[in-house]
Amino acid sequence: MKRVTLKAVVDKDLCVGCRICEKVCPVYAISVVDRKATVQDDKKCRGCANCADRCPRYAIKMVERDDPFDVGVDVSKVDYSKIRALCEKAHVNPEQVLCYCVGVRAEEAAAALLMGATTPEEVSSMTGMRTGCTIECIQPLLRLVEAAGNELHPNPNGWQWYGVTTTAWDFPQEVKEKYNSRGFYFDEDRELLDRIVKQGAEKEGD
Ligand code: SF4
Ligand code: SF4
Repeated sequence: MKRVTLKAVVDKDLCVGCRICEKVCPVYAISVVDRKATVQDDKKCRGCANCADRCPRYAIKMVERDDPFDVGVDVSKVDYSKIRALCEKAHVNPEQVLCYCVGVRAEEAAAALLMGATTPEEVSSMTGMRTGCTIECIQPLLRLVEAAGNELHPNPNGWQWYGVTTTAWDFPQEVKEKYNSRGFYFDEDRELLDRIVKQGAEKEGD
């Protein structure tokens, strides 16, 4: 859940149409039209200031909204067994906080996907996650988006979408064998992580 109190406002006289803002916006709220950045519908803006922080011409200011609002997904509206199954497939515990900036847990991101979101941007728009630092929570979110059956494809703005990093579940056997002798314990790490992912489910089943 995030309270959106700010919005981005562009000074078109300063904007040179470089499109950096467009590429760093986590919800596609800002775009360049006729070489000038525009927030077409300021209700889409989640007030993260990513664009303002990166604009090389200081053309974007964050201003207080007259109409602050909350974004978040009501987890109780989705069958929790489906949330749990999706989280397990993505190797995250449903109660795990994925986005510390906004306080969004895996169960909320999973619920957004089960309600119809198909991209990280849509999950960010619905839950507010990735609108704080915009960085830390992207990997588990990508795993959830993929586990929900969505293809991870390049950002339509022509920017490389997010690369999925290799996790303990992905290492091939020969790599594990090569590094086991150097103090890496991939299988043990994986077993521990699998136990963490399942914690809570076992308690519920007691
Ligand atoms: S980053 Fe700044 S200069 Fe570049 S398009 Fe956006 S507002 Fe304009
Ligand atoms: S969501 Fe963030 S990056 Fe996108 S327009 Fe609003 S303040 Fe800028």
